[in-house]
Amino acid sequence: MNATLHEQFEVLLGQDRFPFGREKVSVRVVAMAELPTRFGEFHIIAFENNHDGKEHVAITKGDVIGARDVPVRLHSECLTGDALGSLRCDCRDQLEAALKAIGQMERGMVLYLRQEGRGIGLTNKIRAYSLQDQGLDTVEANHALGFRDDERDYAVAAQMLQALKIDSVQLMTNNPKKIDQLRQYGIQVSDRIPHIMQPNEHNRFYLQTKAAKSGHMIDFHGKEHLPEQGDRPIVAGMNVSQIGAMFE
Ligand SMILES: [Zn+2]
Repeated sequence: MNATLHEQFEVLLGQDRFPFGREKVSVRVVAMAELPTRFGEFHIIAFENNHDGKEHVAITKGDVIGARDVPVRLHSECLTGDALGSLRCDCRDQLEAALKAIGQMERGMVLYLRQEGRGIGLTNKIRAYSLQDQGLDTVEANHALGFRDDERDYAVAAQMLQALKIDSVQLMTNNPKKIDQLRQYGIQVSDRIPHIMQPNEHNRFYLQTKAAKSGHMIDFHGKEHLPEQGDRPIVAGMNVSQIGAMFE
């Protein structure tokens, strides 16, 4: 393990990050280890927090603690997409694209946030999928279950960055709302890095559906899905009409 990084980590580990009581979201760093992956050499840092009790992690590349303008991708957990390769969403493509890109950078990180199903949880996401199978669209299904379109919240993500002494980031996103939210929570977003996916066999489904209806995803039964990561994906070297032409 990088000695400097390890020393920096030891300092963070000793710090109590719960000084504000339960009214204010606060997190603390609890463990760090090396994480070699097929996308590059990373470290993984575990956090605990006083807000949702979830085990959020940062997957970091290079010397990020205390750094400025750190390239950051916020990824919300999607078990069905990330781990199981579901084609109902393109979460896995987005996660892989982020890890590949950051794995080639000097420094950067993915915050892997355990807010499954746009924040409604795995079981409720499956309930929503079931309602979609019966003909509801994504938004209608969420509303039928008593949720808003999007229950995600980036307060914990902002605190994770602050726990790592990171005050400014370059956010890897195609979604201006994510930038606004992080700024509301006190993180300086000095730049935006477009989150661009390379075309490959895995996002062919996305390309097809995007061709059918720009910006939204249509499944094999013609029902519409919203992108679960909240980001409209960009595929390298292609605009909507080029993608459409591929499938005519
Ligand atoms: Zn997903």
